[in-house]
Amino acid sequence: MWPFSRKKEAPALPSVFFTNTLSGRKERFIPHKAGTVSMYTCGPTVYSRQHIGNLRPGIVADTIARTLEGAGYRVRRVMNITDVGHLTDDGDQGEDKVAKGARLEKTTPEAIAKRYALQFIADLDEVGVRTEDIRFPRATEYVKEQIALAKTLEEKGFTYATRDGLYFDTQKFSNYGALGNVGHAELLPGKRVAMGEKKSANDFALWRAAKPNDLQQWDSPWGTGNPGWHLECSTMARVLLGEQIDIHTGGEDLAMIHHNDEIAQSEAASGRQFVRYWLHNAFLTMGGEKVSKSLGNVVYLSDLTEKGFHPLALRYFFLQAHYRTPLSFGWDALAAADEALRRLWTRALEVIAEAKASEGSEARDRFLAHMRDDLATPQALSVLWEALRSDENTPEELRGLLEVADVHLGLSLLSPPKIVRKFAAEDAPVDIRALAEARDAARAKKDFAEADRLREELETRGYRVEDSAEGTVLAKRRG
Ligand code: AMP
Ligand code: ZN
Repeated sequence: MWPFSRKKEAPALPSVFFTNTLSGRKERFIPHKAGTVSMYTCGPTVYSRQHIGNLRPGIVADTIARTLEGAGYRVRRVMNITDVGHLTDDGDQGEDKVAKGARLEKTTPEAIAKRYALQFIADLDEVGVRTEDIRFPRATEYVKEQIALAKTLEEKGFTYATRDGLYFDTQKFSNYGALGNVGHAELLPGKRVAMGEKKSANDFALWRAAKPNDLQQWDSPWGTGNPGWHLECSTMARVLLGEQIDIHTGGEDLAMIHHNDEIAQSEAASGRQFVRYWLHNAFLTMGGEKVSKSLGNVVYLSDLTEKGFHPLALRYFFLQAHYRTPLSFGWDALAAADEALRRLWTRALEVIAEAKASEGSEARDRFLAHMRDDLATPQALSVLWEALRSDENTPEELRGLLEVADVHLGLSLLSPPKIVRKFAAEDAPVDIRALAEARDAARAKKDFAEADRLREELETRGYRVEDSAEGTVLAKRRG
């Protein structure tokens, strides 16, 4: 009769659980505003190329957003790009990392920052992160707002000035050290201090007076200088998402100092809780140590693709572990992830060809329950594999499962890359695929001598080589 006259109650969204570093427990997610989520992720300091370890926080945050969107939420996202203020010792001493990078590469901080920020975003794209849904503000774009926040803190009596700049007085903030429950009586673990004129070891710079090596400087009520590293995140979260946000993510190394300092600034300024849910990912390690620029054991995404691995194989590799578990990188493990993903794609193509419609199933429900249980990705992947291997589900049910898996995992399951179609029949090993891809690249450059050389190499390795509209097609020679 009057189909549009009665307002419908918004349907309750399914429960999602996250482990909150603040409480140390798994909690049911409840946003401030029904149906929407504000989420801030600490992004990179862009003084050099980001390594594959740096991509883990990006992939984790993307998987959180996908899972919440899959449950019906609208997610607003910000990931900062640090292009000033982060010092080489991570504290209040040392040189600005971006200024140092600029000096080493004989260029300007702006050029360095731009180059590595764009490279980082391109790498995120390649590992299936939906970067078009993220705002990437740069610290230098928000200096005015950072000064305003420091001014508010000064007016509220949370600061003191020294010859080095303006400091946050942690003794004035009673809730200091809430993350990890460290409190402010003791020095936070990992914090390196040169006391200078600081009153207490945990106090930190909001504004640093200009140093001779600083290539970027601004005027402020406390003299010429630049903003402290923690201040940018509090500021950009506040300006772009509001005083109170739902989720804040980052690597576990950031929790104790950077994030406790963010809480201190934001809550001292607003008098309200800054973040409800703090989510931290564990590190990617190699040979027992964390992958890190300072240890010099870095691997870049391009190192993987140059060896013929698909960039999404890295994402698959990460998803095989829970995000709160340290994960050890190795080439054999990556090769296994790459093979598994290509098998998954091959199987997905068969299902898509077979089923035109999709249906719900018990497997799909179990997959969703795992994803919504603090992102239990290893279990979700095994539900997916189990269903694809058994004959208990109809093709329509498998398609339904693949559709939700595609939304949640970001592995391009509904539209596998072209290359898989070419090799699906033979499941060629990674070095063979690399040769075929190199041959396509040579042909595209019209380097036919190189293309012929690669054809011969493939033939010696036991493959028949044919050309198609999609490039090299391989078939294993029998006998
Ligand atoms: P940075 O450029 O060092 O400030 O790091 C940017 C982000 O990457 C931060 O959230 C770090 O916690 C994170 N990160 C750095 N190294 C690793 C690693 N080996 N594994 C996982 N996350 C990392
Ligand atoms: Zn941050």
